[in-house]
Amino acid sequence: MADIAVPPVAEFRSASRIASIGVSKILMIGARAAARKREGRPVIVLGAGEPDFDTPENIKEAAKAAIDRGETKYTALDGSPELKKAVAEKFRRENGVDYAVDEITVATGAKQILFNAFMASLDAGDEVIIPTPYWTSYSDIIEVCGGVPVLIPCDAASGFRLTADRLEKAITPKTKWVLLNSPSNPSGAAYGEADYRPLLDVLLRHPHVWLMVDDMYEHIVYDDFDFVTPVALEPALKSRTLTINGVSKAYAMTGWRIGYAGGPKALIKAMAVIQSQATSCPSSVSQAAAVEALNGPQDFLAERQASFRRRRDLVVSALNKIDGIECRVPEGAFYTFASCKGMIGRTAPDGKRIESDTDFTDYLLETVDVAVVPGSAFGLSTYFRISYATSEAELTEALSRIAAASAALA
Ligand code: PMP
Repeated sequence: MADIAVPPVAEFRSASRIASIGVSKILMIGARAAARKREGRPVIVLGAGEPDFDTPENIKEAAKAAIDRGETKYTALDGSPELKKAVAEKFRRENGVDYAVDEITVATGAKQILFNAFMASLDAGDEVIIPTPYWTSYSDIIEVCGGVPVLIPCDAASGFRLTADRLEKAITPKTKWVLLNSPSNPSGAAYGEADYRPLLDVLLRHPHVWLMVDDMYEHIVYDDFDFVTPVALEPALKSRTLTINGVSKAYAMTGWRIGYAGGPKALIKAMAVIQSQATSCPSSVSQAAAVEALNGPQDFLAERQASFRRRRDLVVSALNKIDGIECRVPEGAFYTFASCKGMIGRTAPDGKRIESDTDFTDYLLETVDVAVVPGSAFGLSTYFRISYATSEAELTEALSRIAAASAALA
């Protein structure tokens, strides 16, 4: 048999569009924590961005009923008529905003809403203004779509909120979007009417700039904080605002993968074009569950909110007792974003100096098996994020370990 020269198999080389995007630091920390757990260490992970509660029974039942009715096929491209109607009613009932059914889109999680929106609207070099700290997927999705994230640091002194003068200075002719997230992942900071008003006035003066708001944590707010969405405050911005929300956090439905948004018809249509070539429609069964989430009883939200509030108070007060840590009281979500600036320059018992927030969070994982995420993962040092979506017992234990490890730094 003649020798056939078989060329060597070429190594995989990824596309340049993902060159600047690394594996999420949050996932990396999760992987390290899981590896330590497998070694039998008593690791407490305060990194997860999802409620520890279960999806309510009535929602699960609605999904089972949908399966039994045979609703197991493709649905309309960007949401079944029933779900779009439920979303429109939700916006009217809870936010005082009127979106017609053709101004609503449904996707496989709010993450796909963001992806569809940026994919459908950004040309190479278009800028998106993002107050920092921010949920890291924002900048990664923007970069995949060819856009340029313009990050504006907003530290604890500014309540982790963007101000009008800083927004004004950041706007250029290339600005396509301003992206605001209230309550925020990772800071828990939220924008009330008085915080939003000056920002909306700036946007009114710059008609080429569109507003994207991520209201994902709307239902997790504390101390009578009055949640408001920008379009309700300034109807004149409705024709260039995308209002994003979803069922993941409020209804403990992260695995069902349903997010939705309201926005101008032309944008919604362009987003559907992207979705049609990515995932077609969201899961039919999950859509039936989301209809029940939005239309069904809402009283459990207050109970869960009260439980999150107790956990927030526990974490904030324990953190503020630690020398070197300062924690602002967050208005919402289930995160604290505390400063660990006071730890920088201190030395661990093994002689290693803490030079950054990452050094501090590494030190916590390696010495007391508590996994938290450094602020640098969200674009702002020197902080660290705790997700308190876990039991009070586990939080108490974790905080006492953090206190002991901090006290051991000299
Ligand atoms: N926005 C924010 C601020 C989030 O924290 C998350 C989830 N971590 C999402 C959107 C995406 O949620 P989902 O895709 O589960 O709807």
